[in-house]
Amino acid sequence: MSVLARVRPDLAQFSAYASARRSGFNAHIRLDANESPWDRNGNEDDPAANLNRYPSPQPEALRARLAQIHGVDTQRLWLGRGSDEAIDLLLRAFCRAGRDNVVAPTPTFGMYRVGAQLQGAQFRTLALSADDDFALDPDKLLALVDADTKLVIVCSPNNPTGTLYHGDAIDRLAGSLAERALLLVDEAYIEFADVASASELIDRHANLAVLRTLSKAHALAGARIGALIAREEIIDLVGRIAAPYPLPTPSVAAALAALSPESLIQTQARIVTLVAERERVVRALAACTGVRKVWPSAGNFVLARFVDAQATFARLLDAGILVRDVSAQPGLAQCLRITIGTATENTALLDVLVGAKP
Ligand SMILES: *Cc1c(COP(=O)(O)O)cnc(C)c1O
Repeated sequence: MSVLARVRPDLAQFSAYASARRSGFNAHIRLDANESPWDRNGNEDDPAANLNRYPSPQPEALRARLAQIHGVDTQRLWLGRGSDEAIDLLLRAFCRAGRDNVVAPTPTFGMYRVGAQLQGAQFRTLALSADDDFALDPDKLLALVDADTKLVIVCSPNNPTGTLYHGDAIDRLAGSLAERALLLVDEAYIEFADVASASELIDRHANLAVLRTLSKAHALAGARIGALIAREEIIDLVGRIAAPYPLPTPSVAAALAALSPESLIQTQARIVTLVAERERVVRALAACTGVRKVWPSAGNFVLARFVDAQATFARLLDAGILVRDVSAQPGLAQCLRITIGTATENTALLDVLVGAKP
């Protein structure tokens, strides 16, 4: 049996919307998709060229390039409108409303709970402890899994704590869940961490799926492009239930440009800069009188506990600096999440915090 047997039974025979562009015919006169015959922009080099035509459901050049960069088979990669879309589609594909559940450690990325609730699935959480630096015991997470658990989601590096869970924990979880549930590992920030992607384990674990995004290290949050990496049968399933043309043509052009060899060299240099800046911010924050604790981070952000998070948030805002107030999340009282910016931006932040009384 495979984890695919855990897909909603009513979707087992689900057939995709048969869009014109899915059929793969080759023709120079296209009268198949009710498009306008006139291109508003005749310049082929312009990203706005060809906008009169629907894009490919899975733009081949981008799919192949991302698969190459991530070291996976093209058939094992699905492109979506940000990784948020892949999260949403997996929840929809697997979870029966009112019956099934999803398991995740918290605190974590809020979209998992939102997506689960929208699908009518219960969101079960294992509360990790700030005192324990948000350490994850796989056995405790597995203890929440029952016959109606369809997905287990682990974000690593975790947003908003910055904690890294790669290594044995992922392998153990995937192995224990095997045919019972899909293990979804969200690697939105992995470029800032010094670890190999969990996608290397997909050969061993058919129930493992990995999320990557162009929104963070690749500086394309506005393009809305994410990737799901998983076994072919899971990719096929997601492709069948997805909207016919998820990726806008200009976004695909922007992504291809951002993934050129020259751009990747620049991206790599910026990652090195951000990681060095992150370590500088962590050290400087730890020395501030108004800061109680700073957690080590493997992402492009830092989580810190303040003596008075609200006052700190307000003081920063007075200086025109916006950070994320995460203090309402369970276990994160008095905590703020600070994204690492340019050296100038980080210095501006530290200038406000260093001199401040608690
Ligand atoms: C930012 C972020 C993403 C990226 O989502 P996109 O839809 O690809 O922009 C995914 N997961 C986590 C945990 C994030 O913080």
